[in-house]
Amino acid sequence: MKRTTLKGLAFLATALLLITISTQSCSTSHTWTPNEEALINDAPGTKMRLWTIDNAEDSIFLRQPSQPLTQADIQHPAFQLLKERMLLTVTDPGNEGVGIAAPQVGIGRQVVAVQRFDKPEQPFEFYVNPCLTYLSDEKQKGWEGCLSVPNQRGEVMRSKQVVVTFNHPTTFELQCDTIEGFTAIIFQHEIDHLSGTLYIDKAETLK
Ligand SMILES: [Zn+2]
Repeated sequence: MKRTTLKGLAFLATALLLITISTQSCSTSHTWTPNEEALINDAPGTKMRLWTIDNAEDSIFLRQPSQPLTQADIQHPAFQLLKERMLLTVTDPGNEGVGIAAPQVGIGRQVVAVQRFDKPEQPFEFYVNPCLTYLSDEKQKGWEGCLSVPNQRGEVMRSKQVVVTFNHPTTFELQCDTIEGFTAIIFQHEIDHLSGTLYIDKAETLK
């Protein structure tokens, strides 16, 4: 084989290698950990175990900040299953809530479900990487409870109006919404969970 042919083959091989490397670096892979996948997949079609502050290990976990989701994460089957199971957990007739955050089921990710009392049919909606970008100075005081704080209620001062930005749970498109009233309280309560904050930290009275 001639030297020029060898050079040509070497060039082709290098080019192919570079194309392969660039393809790999372009396709972001999901970031679900094996532990998270195991927990989400342990019993499809059922509610998840609620992590509560009366369990020492759960309590430490509930105080950790949650990690954001990538677009690849929401396209992964684990995300769909997590949403289904969070919904089953928060709508459990024996222990119903009006919102739930992923850390409450042992998943340290920035996902919350909020019951939209401000919409017809009052659906539960999921928000990925939610962030409050505006909190009104005007506040309202109201009673709150939490699925992770059994047998307790507390009065908390919250903003009357908030703006939440989030990634759309299907398209990952960045969106925002302005929310008022009781639904705004739920958003503030659930998004607090993502930084490890519980309503009992803010409550003026507890009983
Ligand atoms: Zn809560």
